[in-house]
Parts: sequence; structure tokens; C-alpha cells
Amino acid sequence: MGSYRVLAVDDSLLMRRKVQKTLRDTEFEVIATAANGQEAVERFEEHRPDLVLLDVVMPRLDGPGALKQIMELDPQARVIMISSLGTEETVSECLERGALRFLQKPFTDDLLLNTLRSVLPA
Ligand SMILES: [Mg+2]
Repeated sequence: MGSYRVLAVDDSLLMRRKVQKTLRDTEFEVIATAANGQEAVERFEEHRPDLVLLDVVMPRLDGPGALKQIMELDPQARVIMISSLGTEETVSECLERGALRFLQKPFTDDLLLNTLRSVLPA
């Protein structure tokens, strides 16, 4: 277990804990968390995770801004955006920048796991 390393990014501590709890005892392992976009980019560079769960609305640097920098660091980065504010513009902007999926809050454990599984490398 714990073969896919996940970076979980959200300014909400509750959301970070929820993700950690959901991924416990699965094939995913939360190897690092971040509470804003700037931290997300730093953690990404440091850990090079297999998957990134990236909140959209965050202080300092938002999700789309962090996504841009992460994709510059690694064009193959596998990033799933997470937001309650899924405006069409934000969704298409993130998908254009290389995000693989857009997950709407609130989500069930199953939806989170299925979404992560849907973007795994073949
Ligand atoms: Mg947020």
C-alpha cells in the first residue's frame, strides 16, 4: 500500500484531514500537504509527488496560479483541481493549463478515490 504519492493542497485544515483520512489504507499515500499555492509549489518541487490534489481558492497564490508553476516545473505533473466554485471560466482555464480533472466540493470518498484512479499512469 501507499504506492502513489499524493500532495494534498487546501487552505482548509478540515479538507486536508478529510483527504488524508479517505486515502488511508488505499493505494494512495498523502506524502505532503500545503495550505496555499506558494507552499504547494514548494512541496511539489521538494517531493515530486505522483498526484496533486489542488484547491482553487486559496490565499497568497491561488490554485490556478500554483497549477501554472507546477506545470512549468513538470509538464507531466498529474493535477486534479478541487473547488466549490467551479465557474466555467476557472474550469476551462485549469484544464487548458494541464489539470486532468476538476472535482467539485463537497465530494464523497468514492468520488475522490475514483477520480484519483482515473488519472493514474497506464
Ligand atoms: Mg480554499
